[in-house]
Amino acid sequence: MKKKSVSILGVTGSVGQSTADVIASDPYRFNVDVITANKDWEGLAREARRLRASRVVLADEQFAEPLSDALKDEEIVVHAGEKALEECVAPNTDITVAAISGFAGLKPLMYAMTKSYAVGIANKEPLVAAGPLIMETARQFSTQILPIDSEHNAVFQVFDFDNPENVKRIILTASGGPFLRSSPEAIAVATPEQAVAHPNWDMGAKISVDSATMVNKALEIIEAHVLFEMPAEKIEVLIHPQSVVHSFVEYHDGSLLSQMGPSDMRTPIAHALAWPERMETGGEKLDLAALNGLTFEEPDYDRFPALKMAYACMEQGQAACLTFNTANEVAVEAFLQREIAFPDILKSIEYAIQNQPDIKLDTIDSVIKAHHTVRTVTQDYINQKTHNGTDQRKVGTS
Ligand code: NDP
Repeated sequence: MKKKSVSILGVTGSVGQSTADVIASDPYRFNVDVITANKDWEGLAREARRLRASRVVLADEQFAEPLSDALKDEEIVVHAGEKALEECVAPNTDITVAAISGFAGLKPLMYAMTKSYAVGIANKEPLVAAGPLIMETARQFSTQILPIDSEHNAVFQVFDFDNPENVKRIILTASGGPFLRSSPEAIAVATPEQAVAHPNWDMGAKISVDSATMVNKALEIIEAHVLFEMPAEKIEVLIHPQSVVHSFVEYHDGSLLSQMGPSDMRTPIAHALAWPERMETGGEKLDLAALNGLTFEEPDYDRFPALKMAYACMEQGQAACLTFNTANEVAVEAFLQREIAFPDILKSIEYAIQNQPDIKLDTIDSVIKAHHTVRTVTQDYINQKTHNGTDQRKVGTS
């Protein structure tokens, strides 16, 4: 079997590590070309050795020297800096896994789409901020997009791409996050430690907070709208606390097709890496007999207003979707730094959407400009809050 060439953007993160684990479990299947990280030079060096990568790229240049030292006995090419990251994927790469967290992944992803035959996308924020541009690039370069986000990977596996008119709706499942049953009073004083403690999934800090606010599901609604080119009214959410059914596609005849699996990102990652074939993951398998029932319920839109905000943004257009994503990134950073309280995340997003930029988002440069404008607007709002009266307090630890 010919080996697939793979590159991993964000190898040191939660999805990146799971990707590395899947590849390491079947090393004869893959040749790892470039792997990247932001600051974690030790993790990057460790993965470079484990995966026998050809090249490494560290976005933060200040750690380039220790990284080079750590790899001096290996034949691994070391690059550093943002420009190196943005253009790191080599031509004719079979698959690039996009696993950087947040908007920072946009430029490397766009470049990878012009060089790779397929991209496995976990990094949902660029899809929300610049979905039309990404899809247009995929069409232009005939790049196969393979969703890695577990819900979208599930939909991809059961979606009739040849006859999309047969699809009645997509139902994205949501675990509900750590505050599904918490009182509004408890949610109001939630700490970063409580917010990142997801009941089912072990993920990076940002997406864990997004799960707690349900902004993650809101981003996923927009992500599904982009990836499957479905109108907003055909995308719904159901709470499914067990995280076993990873989403449904309902057809007009009443058939509901779903993909089930363990709460283990190695399954959707392996699906993307091996596609159109299948491979072992080295991970857990679902034990149906041991399941204690599967439950589904309507989300509480009043307690988790992020979901409604996603639909409103899709109706308003691309600038609103970008603003939703960017404001959330700024607010989550502030929450994790204990500068704002948990409910202030959504208040910050609301404020930013009311003040969204009036910019045509038809180029990467215009998207990046809008992103920076929204960052400033949101940061100003947060600064004002933290320097005013009752909000002038650090949020306590648990
Ligand atoms: P992590 O925070 O665990 O990892 C992020 C990765 O991106 C790290 O390798 C990090 O490098 C790198 N990175 C962060 N910022 C930058 C930057 N400015 N420039 C370059 N590299 C950067 O995130 P996750 O793995 O949890 O999530 C990654 C993406 O996948 C997100 O978009 C998330 O929404 C999505 N996703 C995650 C899931 C999960 O289970 N974790 C499930 C589904 C989707 P360093 O380590 O050096 O900081």
